[in-house]
Amino acid sequence: MTPLVEIRDLYCEMVTFDGVAKVLNGVSLTINKGDLLGVVGETGCGKSVTAMSIPRLVPQPPARYPSGQVLFNGQDVLKISAEEVRDLRARKIGVVFQDPMTGLNPVFTIEEQMVDSILARQNALHATGWGRGWLPSAREERRAARERAVQLLRRVGIPEPEKRIFTYPHEYSGGMRQRVLIALAISGRPELLIADEPTTALDVSVQAQILRLIAELVREINLTVMLITHNIGVVAQLCNRIAVMYAGNVVESGPTREILRNPKHPYTKGLMQAIPADNSVRGSLQGVAGNVPSLLAPPSGCRFHTRCSYVTDRCKAALPPMQIVAPDHEVACVLYEDGVPAS
Ligand code: SF4
Repeated sequence: MTPLVEIRDLYCEMVTFDGVAKVLNGVSLTINKGDLLGVVGETGCGKSVTAMSIPRLVPQPPARYPSGQVLFNGQDVLKISAEEVRDLRARKIGVVFQDPMTGLNPVFTIEEQMVDSILARQNALHATGWGRGWLPSAREERRAARERAVQLLRRVGIPEPEKRIFTYPHEYSGGMRQRVLIALAISGRPELLIADEPTTALDVSVQAQILRLIAELVREINLTVMLITHNIGVVAQLCNRIAVMYAGNVVESGPTREILRNPKHPYTKGLMQAIPADNSVRGSLQGVAGNVPSLLAPPSGCRFHTRCSYVTDRCKAALPPMQIVAPDHEVACVLYEDGVPAS
């Protein structure tokens, strides 16, 4: 397996009016080419900051990275130039954001937004030297970009794209807008697609359609996907790997099937107990009591210790390191020292 993304011991802090929030606390994560990785955890666990650090979309300031690396194809994106970042965003990484209702500009047609985006990506490529010596006229470029936009809209399931492309975002439903945003994200033929809770704002039947579309694109255009979600059930349907995050740390990671059958970390077990089954009785879901702690003053040691029923003094003393508990399955918890449950 060839790694596409390797995040190594990444720390991130946010400077706020109330103090410095320690948002990432030594995150390490690998995404191999062809992976469909689901990153799960509650709001405030650092999922989006981890993901948006890859295309360097976390604004600095207020963010700063005291240490760690974010390697994309072996290159540390925290150290590259602004021009290299533009190239990375133009043709290597596509991003689909959470809210399709605000992802498009309401005063421009879909055609204007898609064609401008495709041309901007091409210009970023020309700036890197790609395609020099064969620069078509502006009119030809725009016509070719429109043809590509229509193809992309057709691929993501927009009916009659030749006509619909000239309409405005308010004429589309939430699910259709999310399809347009997916088309925009893949328009540069990226290697990595980051989907940050792409179905949260949609109703259940549309959620299933969007997830199916992402799964089809993975197969068709050889995409690697990082899917961020609160919903471990969504990951179970779609992803081959899971990383569970809690308060700025990856606490468990491994193949989806292995983690769903054999969860180890108390937090992962709590998330799984919060998935409703078809025959759930009202009031039977347990979940995880309490809330994610403030990252302005996070708990010492294992940050989950304020909510964990297995807590001991050792948990509060130091952050537990990742332990291998099965092939490719790692967990950060003192209960599994040396890969076996501590006696
Ligand atoms: Fe619970 Fe301790 Fe394990 Fe943290 S290290 S999850 S507090 S048992």
